[in-house]
Amino acid sequence: MSIEGRVAVITGSTSGIGLGIARGLARAGMNIVINGFADAKTIDKILLDLTKYGIKASYHHADMTKPLQIRDLILSTKEIYGSVDVLINNAGIQKVAPIEDFPEEDWDAIIAINLSSSFHTTKAVLPLMRAAGWGRIINIASAHGLVASPYKSAYVAAKHGILGLTKTTALECAEQNITCNAICPGYVMTPLVEKQVVDTAIARGISEEQVKTDVLLKAQWTKKFVQVEELAGTALFLCSDSAQNITGAHINVDGGWTAA
Ligand code: NAD
Repeated sequence: MSIEGRVAVITGSTSGIGLGIARGLARAGMNIVINGFADAKTIDKILLDLTKYGIKASYHHADMTKPLQIRDLILSTKEIYGSVDVLINNAGIQKVAPIEDFPEEDWDAIIAINLSSSFHTTKAVLPLMRAAGWGRIINIASAHGLVASPYKSAYVAAKHGILGLTKTTALECAEQNITCNAICPGYVMTPLVEKQVVDTAIARGISEEQVKTDVLLKAQWTKKFVQVEELAGTALFLCSDSAQNITGAHINVDGGWTAA
């Protein structure tokens, strides 16, 4: 079945990977609901650019720390578009600090946004997908869902958790043509990583350039940052019929990082 005309909700899609995936799915003909924080002018520009692909696009303001707003994101999309066919759980934040100095409020925010929000979106969307007899849930995890790095306790914990949620979701809806998979990117140069470069330089007492070459790309055997377009392509493949028997899996797009 064609993915053209499907309706996709992408959390945290006002920048970075989420925005790249939104563009990729729109180019393939899907209608798009974007979400995340940005000023009104930026949101209008993103929507205008998306609709140039001849699809419908809208914005929902849900804060991924607020379960009721998350529920409204899913239910209002169903009301406006008639279905929610594809859910991309992408919103995420990062904080780099040793455990002893890690602020409790940052731990709570990372677990809420990077992990619990995906439970809330999935809980709201599953009944709709079951009723429609088709669905694709894609969780944007990370290489940090498979391996750890120091000073990222909350992020690594949340990303390992999202792989567990991915597998459980996959099993619970396997017979209804609903798949749930995770994508585990290596480093992608987005605003999230740009901030991390600064924080890691401080935490390790090295220069920002050294963070890029000696810390980030050291782990990535291709010595290249991953591009958002590559992640959009992976998401599109997981939405296709060719991927209907891929469920509960994670696809690593990490330049060989986790192969070592
Ligand atoms: P980004 O900072 O560019 O984008 C994050 C998005 O999440 C933004 O749209 C932001 O507004 C939104 N967001 C943040 N808090 C939110 C909240 N409370 N409610 C709703 N939206 C919120 O970051 P990115 O690098 O594009 O990261 C996207 C996802 O990819 C994250 O889950 C991240 O962990 C994951 N990831 C990123 C990398 C990387 O190297 N950039 C690598 C692996 C995984």
